[in-house]
Amino acid sequence: MKSFDCVVVGAGPAGSAAAIAARRAGLEVAVVDTAPAGRDKTCGDGLTPRAVHALKELQLDAALPAYRNKGLKLHGYGGSVIAAWPSGHYGTEGSASPRSLFDGTLASLASSSGAEVFYECPATGAEFGADGRITGVITPRGVLGARWVIVADGVRSPFGKQLGRTWHRGEVYGIAARSYCATPFSDEPWMHSHVELRDDEGVIQPGYGWIFPLGDGTVNLGCGALSTDARPAKVNTKKLLGHYADQVRDEWQLGQPEHVTSALLPMGGAVSNVAGPNWMLVGDAAACVNPLNGEGIDYGLETAIMAVDLIADASGRHPDLTLVWPHELRRRYGEAFVLARTLARVLTYPQFLPLAGPMALRGLGGRYLMPAAARLMGNLVTEEDRDLVARVWHAAGSSVSRMRADTPLWDPV
Ligand SMILES: Cc1cc2nc3c(=O)[nH]c(=O)nc-3n(C[C@H](O)[C@H](O)[C@H](O)COP(=O)(O)OP(=O)(O)OC[C@H]3O[C@@H](n4cnc5c(N)ncnc54)[C@H](O)[C@@H]3O)c2cc1C
Repeated sequence: MKSFDCVVVGAGPAGSAAAIAARRAGLEVAVVDTAPAGRDKTCGDGLTPRAVHALKELQLDAALPAYRNKGLKLHGYGGSVIAAWPSGHYGTEGSASPRSLFDGTLASLASSSGAEVFYECPATGAEFGADGRITGVITPRGVLGARWVIVADGVRSPFGKQLGRTWHRGEVYGIAARSYCATPFSDEPWMHSHVELRDDEGVIQPGYGWIFPLGDGTVNLGCGALSTDARPAKVNTKKLLGHYADQVRDEWQLGQPEHVTSALLPMGGAVSNVAGPNWMLVGDAAACVNPLNGEGIDYGLETAIMAVDLIADASGRHPDLTLVWPHELRRRYGEAFVLARTLARVLTYPQFLPLAGPMALRGLGGRYLMPAAARLMGNLVTEEDRDLVARVWHAAGSSVSRMRADTPLWDPV
């Protein structure tokens, strides 16, 4: 058995960022991933300014492509709204990168930082000491001894599940499909989102679509819908994606959608049991995805940094993370996630968008409301922001959190 200070399970953005941060904190690190190097991941590939900021904080700008975007253009119900990324803490640079490339680059950077990266090497179980701490991560290549374990195994979190991670499907979650389409407009510097999607017969469908230019001759085109167990979205996302591509084909001179894949997205911290004495879940494994836009790369990077800060500090102040980690997640994201989850739940009522859409996207709504909404959708309000939108968001967040005090939010079981 080879031993490490920290074993990271999963080499997505959260896992690779954790490995790099842990190496910089002076720890001996191993990363294991089920998939081979350069694996694909179903995603919109969008990098908000918040994600770009986190990459810069980690000095990982090398993982960023040259392509930059300036913000969001929202379309639907007879209106179109342009919402530039607001200047502020995170800066105004957004980007986008196909995940096979982005994640592959981050994993290579983890390897060149000195972490031992094992591909095609799933973590299949854990060994525990008498004190309940994980002592080793079991893999087909043997047991990796571990002082700390960071679990970054994504949305289904198979390793996290073995440790007791539970996803609450009664809370809002996303279902989404993505594809790649060739276009001559892949340098377009705006991310586009359509909130009015129709089928062949022109009937409005639940959900939204996106076109995220990648600057490489293609766009990532996808669509998604919000769902709860009580109100499951009755939509075939792959079929809807085909209709959506047909709707925007002429405007974007699109080729056929290729590499169509779909996935689920647990969101807004709706999971329990995210930490034990010497392990914690980060990124999608901890459902750190914005319920209003399905974005989670930024939170994956941030939670990786937070996790390493805690374990680097842990031998002194936090020898047991079971309660410390959920507390830290709640402190940082709790109010915003509960509020966003509550708003997203409203969107699961099929009547809501056709009623509110025209008001929001046209006239005064379009001019004043949507830029603020785009800032919220881009995860771009910080705790420090004190402008009107931020103050309203914070106040609503704390009231809704008080009203929904019993909602699942990273609770220890
Ligand atoms: C359709 C769709 C569109 C999205 N669009 C966007 C977007 O535009 N922008 C954005 O920011 N976010 C988006 N997201 C969310 C984003 O994809 C995730 O938040 C992000 O991938 C989280 O990164 P992660 O490192 O936590 O998990 P992942 O990227 O899923 O990485 C987890 C890794 O763990 C590995 N693994 C799993 N089990 C094991 C095991 N037992 N042992 C070892 N390894 C294991 C997997 O192989 C994988 O490589 C989208 C999601 C979906 C589904």
